[in-house]
Amino acid sequence: MKKEISAVYSGSFDPPTNGHLDIIIRASHLFPKIIVAVTENINKKYTFSLRERIVLLQKITKGLKNTKIVSFSGLLADYVEQINSFVLIRGLRAISDFEYEFQMALMNRKLNKKIETIFLMTDQRYTFLSSSMVKEIAILGGDTKDFVPKYVEKELKKRVVDLSKRNNEK
Ligand code: ADP
Repeated sequence: MKKEISAVYSGSFDPPTNGHLDIIIRASHLFPKIIVAVTENINKKYTFSLRERIVLLQKITKGLKNTKIVSFSGLLADYVEQINSFVLIRGLRAISDFEYEFQMALMNRKLNKKIETIFLMTDQRYTFLSSSMVKEIAILGGDTKDFVPKYVEKELKKRVVDLSKRNNEK
């Protein structure tokens, strides 16, 4: 392995879950530096703003010294060129992720042939976990403490209250 190699882990992280954190920790043991790249897609509606998702990730990765949180918009294949970092980390939960991830990895390689995608398997406790499912549980009043880090749990609770207040005012 080239010593100086850093790896990029991209995603929406809306919000980051224990599954995401598990992948970040695993990757941080394999590479000297992990760049967690938060996507901002103007066509997508997020529960947490870009700034909020960055802060959530900063808080939950505070103990990991080789992790940096950044944001990007546009094509990941272009962004990695700008930062000269061509290893992409993706998390795999179940076979159902595979087809989409496989397609994406090949497309990224087609767009930028220097890109290499590495898949890490999450802890089996998190195989069923997704940001959208966690949000759904929070909105329906369920307990999310086993699914997201404590700080995220607190912020998610607040956000759900704010959203329901806003909906009741309509
Ligand atoms: P997007 O789907 O918009 O890229 P996500 O934030 O949903 O962003 O996911 C980012 C990455 O994290 C993807 O590789 C995804 O497969 C992975 N991931 C999401 N949830 C989990 C989980 N529970 N365990 C492992 N990997 C996960």
